Amino acid sequence: MFDADFFRRWMTATATSVDREAERLTALDSPIGDADHGSNLRRGFTAVTATLEKEAPDTPGGVLTLAGRQLISTVGGASGPLYGTLLRRTGKALGDASEVSAEQLAEALRAGVEAVMTLGGAAPGDKTMIDALVPAVDALGSGFAAARTAAEEGALATTPLQARKGRASYLGERSIGHQDPGATSAALLIAALAEAAGE
Ligand code: ADP
Ligand code: MG
Ligand code: MG
Repeated sequence: MFDADFFRRWMTATATSVDREAERLTALDSPIGDADHGSNLRRGFTAVTATLEKEAPDTPGGVLTLAGRQLISTVGGASGPLYGTLLRRTGKALGDASEVSAEQLAEALRAGVEAVMTLGGAAPGDKTMIDALVPAVDALGSGFAAARTAAEEGALATTPLQARKGRASYLGERSIGHQDPGATSAALLIAALAEAAGE
């Protein structure tokens, strides 16, 4: 079972990893975007850890809904509302239980990913964060390490794709040959989940 502390560790591990990888995320966003993905997420997750420390929600759902709200209010780029929706919707699906099972977490995360697809209109293969998130959720039944591997493979597999959503889609065929920054950060988010679980 996973409690509020586990979810706080997930968010803190994400913040650490995003901070460490910010330059790489921004570099990926340079040829097919506006070179701000790393700084967007660094600002967002720094604010998330600060607000989680201050408000200390005591349920898994409370941690994720607060984190999601904070991302939406601090990140101006497309990724803020999208990641914010992912965490808020996942948190909402977890309800007010003080502990949740791995199955409940997997089910809630699926609801979160579906909300991102509804909001952004992206489907798998459109070269977005969805290309890492959907395989991760599909693999979560086999454990956190399997989800991490699936997300990393999904991010790598965006390179030959042509972007159909977001800024990169403005480039048309010229978006081919570059790894998607949002799929790359989504793989970091899932890796942080595995890390929080000790895997
Ligand atoms: P912006 O494009 O506003 O500068 P970011 O650079 O922070 O925002 O985030 C870009 C990432 O957001 C992309 O690499 C992509 O993965 C993701 N993204 C953009 N639009 C969508 C969408 N409609 N659905 C899902 N993900 C999207
Ligand atoms: Mg950008
Ligand atoms: Mg931008």
